Amino acid sequence: MTGNRCKVLGYNVDLLTFNEAINFVLNKISNNEWLHIVTINPEIIAAADKNKELEKIIKSSELVLPESSGIKKALNFKGIKQEQIPGIDFAKELIHRCADLKYSIALIGAKEHVITKTIENLKKEYPALNIVYSHNGYYENENIIIDKLAETAPRLILCALGAPKQEIFINNCKNKIESGIFIGIGGSFDVWAGEVKRAPKIFQKTGLEWLYRTIKQPSRIKRIYKTLPMFLFRAIMESARK
Ligand code: UDP
Repeated sequence: MTGNRCKVLGYNVDLLTFNEAINFVLNKISNNEWLHIVTINPEIIAAADKNKELEKIIKSSELVLPESSGIKKALNFKGIKQEQIPGIDFAKELIHRCADLKYSIALIGAKEHVITKTIENLKKEYPALNIVYSHNGYYENENIIIDKLAETAPRLILCALGAPKQEIFINNCKNKIESGIFIGIGGSFDVWAGEVKRAPKIFQKTGLEWLYRTIKQPSRIKRIYKTLPMFLFRAIMESARK
């Protein structure tokens, strides 16, 4: 735990800057510790409200990053100013640091051609990056992957399987792997492979990245429509009760 956290609808959110969070994680890596970083947003909260296992996993994480503008808003309702820390940006900075500090990494998730292209692009950007293991996200038996991770012992493990699959996968690693920094980063490999375009900066800066993604992928409308209005309503109610 970073020391300064707050609850949104019963879920912990760590209150810290992007750089403080990076330093927290680097300290954990250098001490060879175990860490599951959760990037929290209204969708994962809605999923966790219906899935006890996911709820328990999120609530036991030592680092919960406020990944979306919805969480930032909910904190604002409570009078807390907090920057949004998108998982994709946070993971990219960790990759950069791992390349510099010579910490090995692993990538799990996405379709085979996507992960292959992601690795190719990352190696171009960070020639010193040491990727000791990778696997696509459409496997039959996760134990084979977990055994491989235990054997290759990467210091940073990026899991881009979508929620809640990635959170459950990381939790299942806990019993077999003693140390490593695990982070679930949804569709980030699709972006790094160049398959999906990131929202223009103006959407990112104004907290409207979700709107851009919804316009580009209309299949997301149902997900947003089902979770965001209710999340904001509950967050307003929660802050009004205080
Ligand atoms: N994915 C995967 N295995 C699965 C299901 C999904 O590796 O069984 C990948 C999928 O290919 C995509 C990512 O997980 O790269 C999910 O992306 P999405 O945009 O839905 O995640 P979000 O960023 O919204 O959490």
